[in-house]
This record gives sequence, C-alpha cells and structure tokens, in this order.
Amino acid sequence: MRILVTGGAGYIGSHAVKLFGARGHEVWVYDSLVYGHRGAVPADRLVVGDLSDVHRLDQLLVEQRIDAVVHFAAFAAVGESVQQPAKYWQNNFVNTLGLLECVRRHGISRFVFSSTCATFGCPTAMPISEDTPQAPINPYGHTKLAVEWALHDYGQAYGIGYAALRYFNAAGAAADGSIGEDHTPETHLIPLVLFAAMGKRPQIEIFGTDYPTPDGTCIRDYIHVDDLALAHLLALEKLTPGLELHYNLGIGHGYSVREVIRTCEEVTGKMVPVKEGPRRPGDPPVLIASSEKIQKELGWKPHYVELRGIVETAWQWHASHPKGYR
Ligand code: UDP
Repeated sequence: MRILVTGGAGYIGSHAVKLFGARGHEVWVYDSLVYGHRGAVPADRLVVGDLSDVHRLDQLLVEQRIDAVVHFAAFAAVGESVQQPAKYWQNNFVNTLGLLECVRRHGISRFVFSSTCATFGCPTAMPISEDTPQAPINPYGHTKLAVEWALHDYGQAYGIGYAALRYFNAAGAAADGSIGEDHTPETHLIPLVLFAAMGKRPQIEIFGTDYPTPDGTCIRDYIHVDDLALAHLLALEKLTPGLELHYNLGIGHGYSVREVIRTCEEVTGKMVPVKEGPRRPGDPPVLIASSEKIQKELGWKPHYVELRGIVETAWQWHASHPKGYR
C-alpha cells in the first residue's frame, strides 16, 4: 500500500511509520514538526506541512497515488484542551474534516484514525469495551468523539472504510532503541518517573493518593507503542470500502501510579523521590481496556503483556537519549 501518515513524526506515528516500512509498504509522512521530530522518520519520506493546508494534502495524495491514510496529527493535552478548546476544535476536528474531504475527493477508501479512551469519560464498569457508552468529559475527548461520528457518517454515505482506534496509555519505545518518546513539555507518567530516576527532575509528584483503589492512586492500562503500531497495520490491511471498525487498545491489565514508580525503580535500579500531591482535575480513578474485539476480529495480540517489559524499552530510550531527539 501507499500510505500517508499524518503526524508521522510524533511519538506513536513514528513507530507506526517504522513498522509499515518494515512490512514493505510505501510510506509518506506529513507532519508540521510543531510537536513531531525530524529525526524520528526517514528524511526522504518527510513532507513538512500543516494539517490545515488542504491544497498541499491534495497534491500529495495525487502525486504519490496514496491509497490509505493513517491520521495521527492532533493536539493531545487534556489540560490544555480545557484552557484552549478553540485550538483543539480547530485542529483536531476542523482540520480533520478538511483531510477527510481530501480523502473523499480522491476516492481513498482506507482511513485509520487515532482515537482515545478519553472518549469514554469516567465509566465505572471495567474493563471498557466497545459497548461502553462514550461520554467524554473534556474538550480533547469531545473533539475525538466528534471525528468518530463524522467518520461514521462519511463511511455510510461515501463508502470510506475506516478504523477508529481508541488508545489507552501509550508507553515504551522501539525495541532497537532507535526511536522513542519525546514530548515538550512532558506530562506522561512513565517518562517523568524515569526522568526523576535519572536526576533530570528532582522528584515525581503523585497526583492523588485518596482514590478508591487498593493503594489510593490512579490505575491505568499501559500499552506498548509498537503493539499500537501493529493494531494500525492490521486495521489497514483489513479495511474495505464502507467497513467501519472500532477497537479499544490496551493490555487489559491496570497498574497504579505507585506500581509504575516501583517498576521504574526495579528497571533502572535507582530510587525515585516521590512527593504526594493533590488529584489532577479530570482524572478518572481507573481505566482498563478490553481489547477482546480486536483480538478476535483481527488476530491482534500485544507482544508486551506486562508493564516491566514496556518500561524496559522506555528506559533504554531515555537512558541513551537524555535529550530526546536533540
Ligand atoms: N500522573 C502522576 N504524576 C505525574 C503524571 C501523571 O501521578 O506527574 C498520574 C496521572 O494522574 C494518571 C497517570 O499518572 O493517573 C497517568 O497519567 P498520564 O498523564 O501519563 O496519562 P493519562 O492517563 O492522563 O492519559
């Protein structure tokens, strides 16, 4: 396949690009490099451009005879989305509709979309399956769910085949150490704990120790970024015109913040200074995925089934790239 990957120089996108290339697909990356990194993708495959530039996208789809689009490009900071919803609706929703229009104009029938467990909000019943009602509680989740709805309508009316993949907590790095996570600012738990282990930060603050969980801290389902990449590949290969796929992606097992810290200490062999702080607004106590549907329908299986293996790859990346891609 000739695949266009928007946001392909970002964290999850770059791992997908690497996998698609290794499987023999012809891949083009379209990335603004606002958050993505030039060094995360092959230089001769990168087109630097903004998602709002539909003219440029049109050109690329025609020139490269693209037959599938994998759409990662989006803003993804929940807190920022609450402060600046306009930024999120514009980029994540309006610009995505622009891309979808390009896809429709050029008769492309395979589209894979990065959705999120944030579209579920705060469900109480675990694990979260595809039947769990979607009720997002912040603008980030709203924009992602709105795109899912648009995809459904486009799929029904125009025959675009699509997959909406709802990631739980993406973590880890390529096993060969070549690419990994590098966000500015970094807000995610695992890299921050590893930074504290390395002495790059003085400590890790635990956001809330009074949750109704066994050790009082939030529980999340961490999934390795290469396992996410594999799900995209399988979805792409399955898609046919008009087919609508929705899958939740996690390992089906949750780890508390304290368990993550302990695992990072074991993997690095270093003590992590901890500060107990207040809850972060908007954090549900527990989020665990059921990924049975994608396992059954596409034969997807996570290679990394325990947190330790995931953290080992993240540690290999951060220890060898203390300044990320810089
Ligand atoms: N967390 C924390 N301290 C931090 C960053 C995160 O205690 O400095 C907690 C956060 O409250 C959540 C979990 O770690 O329960 C995972 O947070 P992250 O931001 O990595 O991902 P999210 O679940 O928000 O997508």
